[in-house]
Amino acid sequence: MSLQPTSHRIGVHCSIAGGHHKALYLGRDLGCEVVQIFTKNNMQWKGSALTDESVRKFRAARDETGIKTIFAHAGYLINLASNNPENLEKSRISLLDELERCRLLELPFIVLHPGAHLWTGEEEGLERILDSLDWIFHRFEGTTRIALEATAGQGTLLGGKIEHLAMLLNASHHRKRLRICLDTCHLFAAGYDLRTKADIEKYIAEFSQLLPWEKVVCVHLNDSKGPLGGRKDRHALLGQGQIGWECFQVIMGHDAFAEIPLCLETPKGKDNINDLETLRKLKKLRGNSLLKVIE
Ligand SMILES: [Zn+2]
Ligand SMILES: [Zn+2]
Repeated sequence: MSLQPTSHRIGVHCSIAGGHHKALYLGRDLGCEVVQIFTKNNMQWKGSALTDESVRKFRAARDETGIKTIFAHAGYLINLASNNPENLEKSRISLLDELERCRLLELPFIVLHPGAHLWTGEEEGLERILDSLDWIFHRFEGTTRIALEATAGQGTLLGGKIEHLAMLLNASHHRKRLRICLDTCHLFAAGYDLRTKADIEKYIAEFSQLLPWEKVVCVHLNDSKGPLGGRKDRHALLGQGQIGWECFQVIMGHDAFAEIPLCLETPKGKDNINDLETLRKLKKLRGNSLLKVIE
């Protein structure tokens, strides 16, 4: 018998050092109800193949820890909008490989930064992402979705505007296989204020005009070291950045976020002390009324 939350499930990004299963045991120790992982080293194009043994251990860890909401974040080298043919091909192959890993690990979606147009223009960049998604989904037969992440819009990175995400989802031949991941730091850095309840309502309304809110399958909870509209992707501990604690307090009590897995990507501190403390604080906001007993 255990107490499980009925809404506003939270967790953190967990390291797969020592094996994918290790992320889940770490998540359990930190009190996670949600765990995000990389499927391989996030700074390399290719990882060593997932063995039957590692898949078996991962599934066993999932059963043992009871953590049901597990998803992936794609590697940082991938750029589906690259205008360099060699780089574009590497990016597509790398993401396809990651999707295969997700299929084996039974992960429902992988979070992906849409891509950077590298000074070729937004329109051209978005078109290349659409072509890349076609290329990938023609080859991938699993059910794992790609969740395009809203970005801070730094440099030539696409995804800093809701319009970019809406264009990709609405124009793709594979829109049913696409979802959205939001990130409070990225949104704020891209110019969407989230400091008060009114700001958050405004963002939800703006988003909902272009895309169904149900497309959002994950929200990264990060405060921002940089200012509103500063286009800096620098995560701060919740309440210690330019966004402030109120935003996270509102999210934890807001119906729009009740069913969406919430995940921290903030500095972990020694022995993950920050993760432990922040999760504890967030859970208190949720209150006991949202817990139900699972036999
Ligand atoms: Zn990300
Ligand atoms: Zn993020």
